[in-house]
Parts: sequence; structure tokens; C-alpha cells
Amino acid sequence: MIFKEKLAKSILSESKIFPYVINAYTGCQHSCSYCYARYMKKFTGHHEPWGQFVDVKVNAPELLRKEITRKHRGRVWVSGVCDPYQPLEAKYRLSGQCLEILAQHDWPVTVQTRSPLVLRDVEILKQGAEFEVGFSIGTADDAVRRLFEPAAPPVEERINALTELHRAGIKTFAMIAPILPGAEDLPELLAGRVNHVILDRMNYHHADWVYQKYRLEDSMTDEYFEGMDRLLRAALRKQGIEIQY
Ligand code: SF4
Repeated sequence: MIFKEKLAKSILSESKIFPYVINAYTGCQHSCSYCYARYMKKFTGHHEPWGQFVDVKVNAPELLRKEITRKHRGRVWVSGVCDPYQPLEAKYRLSGQCLEILAQHDWPVTVQTRSPLVLRDVEILKQGAEFEVGFSIGTADDAVRRLFEPAAPPVEERINALTELHRAGIKTFAMIAPILPGAEDLPELLAGRVNHVILDRMNYHHADWVYQKYRLEDSMTDEYFEGMDRLLRAALRKQGIEIQY
């Protein structure tokens, strides 16, 4: 794994999903097999495979302090093409510092992660008037999680983190995306822990080799995804969980 400290030119970028996005890191140690963000590699000059390099934007908080005063208030996605709480965040605390600045300026924020490290910033998250935290969880079965996301935190840790955040009064959501085998048990696990769920099949073609290697081809057909989508929507409604998208 190659880590490099870099000075970024800007940090509060416009985004298609939310008005703004902050990525304090380029690259992601979680290295999920299906990761859609791997297209970023071509902009980095790195030759290592996706998941094997991270550029650390050490001046991210300093840049944000300046840029936030020059832009119109809008929801900020933390983060779009990396996990803001990947293991390096434990050392650098760049996402945490950015959240602090966003809370001080009262900007709305959507945090999206797979890591319970986010709990370290629970006091900051409580300060933000329009902050929400989402966990991406594609399956309830940790054996399946290990096949597709071997370097990301276990399912149980994510569910426990959602529980803690929700109890702390922070708005929480889960992204069941991509929908992986074993997702059918998630609605029951998520009940009482999230304000809403986002369902998205996502483009999984980077992970085709995982499906093939573990003989899960039946779980990558259109029929499978359509059936699973229907089943999840019905189960989520039964649990009284709002579905977005
Ligand atoms: S956590 Fe997100 S950004 Fe990181 S490798 Fe996984 S899918 Fe990609």
C-alpha cells in the first residue's frame, strides 16, 4: 500500500449527487471489489491497483476554511470517491476536521461510510443541524461481505455504529448498494436504527470475477436483482422503514 501526503488545490467541489462533495483522500484502503470510484485512478498518475494507493490531502481543512466563505451554502457529501473514515483517517483526522468546519458554518452534510471510526466524531455530528450519516451495507452475511469487501469493516460493526449514532439523535440511513447475496436479512437488522434506506443495484461489473470465482453467477442476473429489489422493498415497508429511490 502506497500512501503519499499531497497539497490539494481545492477541496469543496461541485457534485452531481449533492451540491458539493469533499474527498480528503484520493484512493481508498477499503478496496471493495465492485468500487465505482476506481475510475479516479486515471487522474492520479498511480500505477498500483485501486485500493493499493492513497493520496492524503493534508491541507483539506485549511482549504475548506477558505472555500466555505466564498461559496453558497449547500449540502456536502462526505465523501464521493473514497471512504472518509478509511483507516488513514485515524491518523490524519482530515474528514473529522472538515466536518467540524462545516458544523461551525451550519452547512448541511451527508456522511457516507463503511467504518465505525465515524463514531469518534459523534459530538461534532450532533452539533450539525442538518447532518446525516449513512452506512453502505450490501449484505447481512459477513461471509459474503468478506468475498466482496475483504478490507472493509464487518457488517456487525456497521450495524452497531448505526445503533449508536441513531441513539445519539443523529439522522441515519443505510445504503443497500450494491445489493449482494444475503441482503434479504438486512431490513430486520436495520429496524429502529435508520431513518431511511436507499436501495441501489449499482453497476457491479468490476466484481464479476468475485461472482464467478465463488459460483455466485445466479446472484448477478437481472432476474435476481429485480426479485431481490421487490423482496427488500416489501420487507422494509413491513419494518416501517422509509425507502428512498
Ligand atoms: S469504501 Fe467506497 S470508495 Fe472505498 S473502495 Fe469501497 S466502494 Fe470504493
